[in-house]
Order: sequence, then C-alpha cells, then structure tokens
Amino acid sequence: MAGKKVVIIGAGCGGLAAAALLARDGYAVTVLEKNAAPGGRARTLKTNGFTFDLGPSWYLMPEVFENYFARFGRKVGDYYQLKRLDPNYRVFFGDGQVDVPADRRKIGELFDRLEPDGGKKLDRFMQSAEFQYRTAMKSFIYRAYRSFFDFFNWEIITKGPRLHIFEGLDRYVRRFFRSDRIRKILEYTVVFLGGSPDNTPALYSIMSHVDFNLGVWYPDQGMGSVVSALNKLGKEHGVELLLNQNVLRIESENGLAKKVVTDKGNFAADIVLVNADYHHAETALLAPGDVSYSAEYWTSRKMGPSAFLIYLGLKNKIKGLLHHNLYLDPSWNEHFKAIFDKPAWPEAYSYYISCTSKTDASVAPFGGETLFILIPVAAGLVDTPEIRKKMFSQTIAHLEKLLGEDIKNNIVYQQIFAQRAFALAYNAYKGTALGLAHTLFQTAIFRPSHRSKKLKNLYYTGSYTHPGIGVPMVLISAQIVSDLIRKDHVL
Ligand SMILES: Cc1cc2nc3c(=O)[nH]c(=O)nc-3n(C[C@H](O)[C@H](O)[C@H](O)COP(=O)(O)OP(=O)(O)OC[C@H]3O[C@@H](n4cnc5c(N)ncnc54)[C@H](O)[C@@H]3O)c2cc1C
Repeated sequence: MAGKKVVIIGAGCGGLAAAALLARDGYAVTVLEKNAAPGGRARTLKTNGFTFDLGPSWYLMPEVFENYFARFGRKVGDYYQLKRLDPNYRVFFGDGQVDVPADRRKIGELFDRLEPDGGKKLDRFMQSAEFQYRTAMKSFIYRAYRSFFDFFNWEIITKGPRLHIFEGLDRYVRRFFRSDRIRKILEYTVVFLGGSPDNTPALYSIMSHVDFNLGVWYPDQGMGSVVSALNKLGKEHGVELLLNQNVLRIESENGLAKKVVTDKGNFAADIVLVNADYHHAETALLAPGDVSYSAEYWTSRKMGPSAFLIYLGLKNKIKGLLHHNLYLDPSWNEHFKAIFDKPAWPEAYSYYISCTSKTDASVAPFGGETLFILIPVAAGLVDTPEIRKKMFSQTIAHLEKLLGEDIKNNIVYQQIFAQRAFALAYNAYKGTALGLAHTLFQTAIFRPSHRSKKLKNLYYTGSYTHPGIGVPMVLISAQIVSDLIRKDHVL
C-alpha cells in the first residue's frame, strides 16, 4: 500500500522525474500542473501537421538519461530511440560557415583550418575539459549540499586549480586559441547555461566535452519523447498527474507544509515538492514567514536570459540548414552586454535555428520544414506587439539573406513566444527562459537549496536548484531531491 502523500507542484521534467522515483519508492504521489499538458519548458506543440519542441531541442549527455532510467532497471531504448547527429551542427559567421562534425578527429582538422596548430591546441583543451567533466560528475554534480564543507571536499581541494572554478570561460579559452571563430564555437555553449563567456566559470568548458566527445543526439519525434517517457514511467509506478491545476498557495502549520491549494481544490500533503520556478513559490505560494530567501536575495540574482522564440511551419524545404544551426553575429560582445549588463532589445544579434524535419520526417507535412528560431534576450524586458513585429521581420529578413532562400512566402504556420509568455506559461521571474544563470556564486552549494530552510517537509527540484539548467541537470536534481526525501521521511 502506498505510504506518505507527496504533492508535487509542476510537471516539468524535474517534477515528472522526481514523481516516478518517489512513487517507485512507495510514496503516494500527486503532481499538480497548471498547464493543460505536462513537460513545462519541454512541452511540445502539434499543429497543422507540424510538431514543435517548444523549449529544449539539444539532447546532450546521453549517459545522464541512461543513469536515470537505470534506477528503474530500464534503458532509454525501452522508451524512445536515439540517433546521433552528424554533423553536430552548422555555424554561420555572416562571412562564412563551418560544419562541426561528430568525429572528434575531424573537429581537430576543422580547427587546423581555422588557426595554425588549432587541432593540437584543441587536444590540450579537450584533455582538460574531459578531466573537468569526469571530476565534476564524480565529485559534485550528483551531490546534495548542506554546507560549504560538503562542496570543498578533498577532491575539489586537491584538484581545484585544474578545475578552473575561479577563472572566466572567455579568458580561459583565450589562453588556448586566438581565432575568433574557434572562441565563438567553444563559448556559444554558455548560452545553454544561461550565462555569458565572462560571467561563467571556466569549469563549464566541460560543455566542450559534452558537445565534441559525448555527441549531439536526437530522440525520435523530438524532446517531447523524453517528457512522454517520464510521464509513462510515472504512470507505471502509480503517479497521479492532474493537469489544469493552478496552485495558489502552500499552507503550513507548526513548521510543516500541510496543504496545497489550487484553483480546483485542496490537497493534503505529508511532503510537498516544488518543481515550479523557485522564485514563484517563494513570492506567490508561501506565507512570508515560510520563505527561505529574502526579497533582496532574489533581486540580486543574475537571471539567465529570456528568449524571443519563433516557431515556423514552412511548405517548402530549406537547403542551407542542418538540424542544428547557429548564427554567430559580429556583435557577439554587444549582444551579451545587452543580455547581462545593460538589458535592452538587441539591434544586432546571434541566434539559433532548429530544423528537426531534417532528421525526422514525422515532424512536418511532406515537403515542408519545421523551424524554431531562438534569440537570447535579457530577462525583464517589456515586449510589446511593435517589438515582436520588428524582431520577427528583422530575423526572417536576416535569415533569408544569410541562406539566400525565400522563407517569408513559404510560411504556413507561425507563432511567437517571448518574455511575457514565459511569465504567463511558467510563472517565470522576469520572463526568464532558463532560470538562474550559472555564475560562480550561483553554482553548486550557491544555488537555492533543495530543502526548505523553514518548513521541514518542503523541498525543491528543477533547474533553479543544483546542478542547474538543462534537461540532464534537472533529471539529476530529481534524483538528488528524491534521495533526500527518502532519507528524511522513511516510510
Ligand atoms: C527555449 C528553451 C530552450 C532550451 N534548450 C535546451 C536544450 O536544447 N537542451 C536542454 O537540455 N535544455 C534546454 N533548455 C532548458 C530546459 O528546458 C530546462 O532547464 C528544463 O526543462 C527545466 O525543467 P524544470 O522541471 O526545472 O522546470 P519547468 O520545465 O519550468 O517546469 C516547471 C513546471 O511548473 C509549472 N508551474 C509553475 N507554476 C505553477 C503553479 N502555480 N501551479 C502549478 N504548476 C505550476 C509550470 O507550468 C511547469 O510545467 C531550454 C529551455 C528553453 C526555455
């Protein structure tokens, strides 16, 4: 018989992943989700014959997904099939383009073409990135933290200097390479972490190991397959998922969360786990006396960017694109400044274009193409219909010029999702797409705690918590928090 009652607020990947683990362990788990579909930022939109992944589109770190399913004695392949992409992606520089191949040796050859001895320099860079990745995975990614001493453990102290925790990524990359193009290829990955090359620790060059060695993958039918798999796994273990349940508050008594109140009803709980944005839970769901962090704490956080997203269904094929494409503009530094230092809508900008129909015929009608364009922009900007119109036409015109192909006249479906849409759909603070950036003081022990500091049975999971942003990280966060709950509340 199911034991203590866990109520989870939010059916993002973090909430769904934790729900399945806790249900497997014998807890009676109910997930309350405000939207009409599970998946949170990783939801899917199916319309007019097109399938769009609304948020994540890069399936990275496949071993993390395998580790998660292994906890159930399952394999990823029991739920969806993966295909390794080759090339990994195409990079447009405005005055030229390169394809980054899946074969690591060939990446060395590409770097040789971009800079004298580029391949040898890459070998040295990658040795360090792999060492950092392995140390991080072993020593601090899969860990829960209670104190500084948990973080500064022996491994970190002895290997600390080689982990480059205290150096910015941009300075670090410059120590290896002079080529502007190489630096951009190695640094664009920080956008995945919600940061900029100078506010992200060099430790995150681990992303180059993730990108070049572990590879870029595609789950059949897109990232929505991951959400479906987590949902199915939960159902197999008895998770109750209730959609269209907007949580209004978490009520407490004597230092314990007692009840979760939604617009549809009340849910008594022995344990409450928040997967919704941390800031939202603290400022809108909890009584002021029950919050773990002050208002000043939140205003002083470095938020990851918001995003201006364009979803396009096209009736024709676009020749110049691969599955993943990056346009890296000469205004690189100014664009990062407009995101992090002086928040403003950028005049010129880099952007990412996903075209999943290059790999998967099921996501677009025959002869058509499914396009998703992402422009990182500062959190907290005001987006008006005029700005949306301007950004949309400027981006489409730029892409048409870049590719020398007609896009505008072939659009059969279009949708914009930006700023206020993130706040509306996910209760995202300042409309952030990703949550808290991975600056040094927002990494590991410095991220908001998995355990509430006030209520003994209140927990948090998802991208605001350690280890952070991205679907693989959120799966790890779900494992950390479910282990904590099991330890604290033995059945
Ligand atoms: C545009 C974009 C591109 C991305 N690209 C990638 C990528 O390529 N690869 C990658 O790995 N990651 C990527 N990410 C990051 C990744 O999607 C997220 O880090 C991850 O999905 C976050 O999961 P989560 O469970 O923490 O939160 P969420 O997905 O935000 O889930 C939280 C859930 O809580 C719900 N909720 C909020 N408030 C309430 C309430 N009051 N009541 C009930 N429910 C509530 C929300 O509706 C949501 O469903 C991307 C994100 C975005 C936005």
